[in-house]
Amino acid sequence: MTANLLDFDLEGLAAFCEGLGEKRFRATQLFRWIHQRGASDFSQMSDLAKSLRAKLESSARIEGLRLLSQHESADGTIKWLFDVGAGNAVEAVFIPEEDRGTLCVSSQAGCAVGCRFCSTGHQGFARNLTTGEIVAQLWFAEHFLRQHLATSERVISNVVMMGMGEPLQNYSALIPALRTMLDDHGYGLSRRRVTVSTSGVVPMMDRLGQDCPVALAVSLHAPTDVLRDPLVPLNRKYPLVELMQACKRYLAHAPRDFITFEYCMLDGVNDQPEHARALVALVRDQAVSCKLNLIPFNPFPASGLTRSPSSRVQAFAKLLSDAGIVTTIRKTRGDDIDAACGQLAGDVRDRTRVGERIAAQRTVMLTPVPADPVAKEGLA
Ligand code: SAH
Ligand code: SF4
Repeated sequence: MTANLLDFDLEGLAAFCEGLGEKRFRATQLFRWIHQRGASDFSQMSDLAKSLRAKLESSARIEGLRLLSQHESADGTIKWLFDVGAGNAVEAVFIPEEDRGTLCVSSQAGCAVGCRFCSTGHQGFARNLTTGEIVAQLWFAEHFLRQHLATSERVISNVVMMGMGEPLQNYSALIPALRTMLDDHGYGLSRRRVTVSTSGVVPMMDRLGQDCPVALAVSLHAPTDVLRDPLVPLNRKYPLVELMQACKRYLAHAPRDFITFEYCMLDGVNDQPEHARALVALVRDQAVSCKLNLIPFNPFPASGLTRSPSSRVQAFAKLLSDAGIVTTIRKTRGDDIDAACGQLAGDVRDRTRVGERIAAQRTVMLTPVPADPVAKEGLA
């Protein structure tokens, strides 16, 4: 089997070229052809010697993902579904805004964390994506969009690892993919514009800070362990105080001086004034410099959960803002094509029992919390 060059960051490609008896700088030329020009065919690479092209033909390939479908939302959001083999498929979403173009990228087919409110989580876990499969989403989207918009300028300015999967549970594939995104000879994205979103894999947050510091978003969703345990099962392994400490350590390396906390607003579950006050206390006590991003829950039938009414989201946001925490409410984009946060389900052949486990716990989980006052924080 030939090597797929999308699997390599520039360092990896240089080592590969050396293995072919070529000088390292050839790798830079090759890398630019692939990522900056979208080439998939060695014969296009006119400034590479014929002898090198011949060696590449026989030992390497540039292979993207097979596109299964494309949907464009009324608001311009585009969702692509890619085949990753064995009945699994993953999604990437392009979100155009006035001043930026953001691509939401998947890191796994499914996800083993199994958050209660997440459609990917409900599907269980099939496998990690390779570096090449992560990069291929950007490679395809960037060059497709340039053609589609008839431009030679860069279209994607931001990448968020917020598609399917928990990126920090696929660390070894993630790092070369991030490096390719950041590399000036690759996509040249700013560290501040590449965001890894995590449900809180504490040891890997530390490693990311060392190996490849980029912007970090942490999916919080609850201000106490008793509430977070059933929503984000990983919390049982890395509870909130440990998570907050890891955020602080990360800030020493981060390209931004704050962590973004994501908080999905679930009707009657985590959206009460009590929860907002507990959240303020948590970030104050732990002294983490942060911004809060409230995400209106995007419902899907199997969740049995509903979105908090907008008035409650506003009230929650106001409590946080009044306490001095910069708070934004995320605009929902692409929900008419199921491309909004947490709606990405692709197609996953579950190889674990995550899906089953969630289904079994649903009845326990969904006992509604009394609306006001909040008597209990636990959901059980
Ligand atoms: N696994 C990572 C990244 C992918 S999820 C993580 O959990 O951070 C990306 C974001 O979408 C997370 O903040 C996640 O909590 C949020 N999300 C998941 N399901 C959602 C839903 N149904 N509605 C709104 N946001 C959701
Ligand atoms: Fe996995 Fe993130 Fe979904 Fe949780 S929210 S199940 S960590 S993709």
